[in-house]
Amino acid sequence: MAPPTFEFDFQTTGGNFTGKVAFSAGLFINNEFVESVEGSTVELVNPTDGKPLGHVSAATDKDIDIAVKAAREAFEQRWGTKVPPPERARLIHRLADLVEQHADELAALESLNNGKTVFVSRFVDVQGFVNTLRYYAGWADKIHGKTIEVNDAKFAYTRHEPIGVVGQIIPWSVLGMFAWKIPPALATGNTIVIKPSEWTPLTAIRVAALAKEAGFPKGVLNVVTGLGSVAGAAISSHMDIDKVAFTGSTLVGRHILKSAAASNLKKVTLELGGKSPSIIFDDADLDKAVSWAAFGIVFNHGQTCSAGSRVYVHEKIYDEFLLKFTEKLKSLKVGNPFAPDTFQGPQASETQFKRIMGYIESGKKDGATLHLGGSQHGTEGFFIEPTIFTDVKPDMKIMREEIFGPVVVVAKFSNDEEAVRLANDTLYGLAAGIFTKDISRAIDVSNKLKSGTVWINEFNKVEVTLPFGGYKQSGIGRELGEYALQNYTEVKAVHINLSATPPI
Ligand code: NAD
Ligand code: MN
Repeated sequence: MAPPTFEFDFQTTGGNFTGKVAFSAGLFINNEFVESVEGSTVELVNPTDGKPLGHVSAATDKDIDIAVKAAREAFEQRWGTKVPPPERARLIHRLADLVEQHADELAALESLNNGKTVFVSRFVDVQGFVNTLRYYAGWADKIHGKTIEVNDAKFAYTRHEPIGVVGQIIPWSVLGMFAWKIPPALATGNTIVIKPSEWTPLTAIRVAALAKEAGFPKGVLNVVTGLGSVAGAAISSHMDIDKVAFTGSTLVGRHILKSAAASNLKKVTLELGGKSPSIIFDDADLDKAVSWAAFGIVFNHGQTCSAGSRVYVHEKIYDEFLLKFTEKLKSLKVGNPFAPDTFQGPQASETQFKRIMGYIESGKKDGATLHLGGSQHGTEGFFIEPTIFTDVKPDMKIMREEIFGPVVVVAKFSNDEEAVRLANDTLYGLAAGIFTKDISRAIDVSNKLKSGTVWINEFNKVEVTLPFGGYKQSGIGRELGEYALQNYTEVKAVHINLSATPPI
């Protein structure tokens, strides 16, 4: 049987194209869209109205085996060290051009599938993907080892070699995460089996078709949609996958590390959750701090791993901050992600919607003050009002656990030392924000935070050139920038004896 087809009514942002777009939504293996061996599919749901959206194929371990064989053959025969680095760069640049040409369609598809506003899809996710592709295309022919001085009797050098077949598992903020995963892996010469989230696979499937059009040899990029517990588990436990790169929850990250350990000890990098603090000092530019802190929590509806979900404010400015912060969150329009003035669309799935509402209930039950929001917005779809809690104790669930929604906790501190202590009082360590005009204080506090990213006087601004990743339970390894190349290369030390005589 043929794999499922996905159809949607597409309108460009400027309205210069409207019409139906239809594409194969099978598993993309060896440059072909195929049905899964068992013919299974997953049904997608439109988060804006809660109605069914269509079907895509769902892989089982049998399909993962087939994809891994394709990737292995490609690595050995057509990619890896078989392809000159400038050719890898050319293909990645070509894919960047094609993604750019299809930017409106990809943005619309992304918003349709996961509810983020079409503006964010277009200018953050799609544009970010184009930028990341171009950035790593530039690295493809600049990956090299070192010669290392030892002594006169030895000449030694290192080689940075591709690891081989890499498995990549990503969450439902899909295109942005796809953007962080495939460019560095391809630039360093690895072949890929990537599994997007079962809820939001559509843009990854479209990009697979563009990769074929760009001219990537078959088997280099394989996109396998399917359930985490089935297809994801088959990737993390596979004996012929050399490395797995995961972005998602800390809970699933732990599973992945365990199954990597229990199978072939594949290399693992993890980008996990967070409960990132902002510290607003009393000398901060208050209006700007209010705006950044608001952006920190409601950007992408709170569905960012680095969401600024704990805001600590100096007691002297707490009341004024809270007033302005509340006004700011109230002023942001929640609604249809395709409307041009919408800031916040629906949460990506019903499961997430219910989880977030559960956290709001737990905050109320534990005795925190619900200061703003707390309810579903409207009557259909998965919309949640921006929500502020105050009077939150350090041990309450809403202070400790990642909510992954537009729910923020605002609390007081009275001196720098207390601010640092509160900010670090978490199992996570992904990101943090500091707001002050005093540069010495900013750097001193920044040095004391256990956090992979520190933003000073801004929040949630990620740069392709700068590493991103977590301290503590927020992950292992760094993505983006030059640092990400380490995730996808093995280092080989080569010793050449010039004049040493054998010891025995
Ligand atoms: P999730 O952990 O539920 O799922 C992520 C991926 O793992 C999905 O593709 C899923 O199918 C798969 N999966 C689920 N169970 C699996 C298993 N047993 N074995 C293998 N794979 C499995 O995450 P989500 O709900 O899609 O996304 C939200 C989470 O992602 C949040 O915790 C958020 O912080 C995190 N996140 C982190 C970053 C980062 O860069 N640190 C970025 C975005 C999201
Ligand atoms: Mn989940």
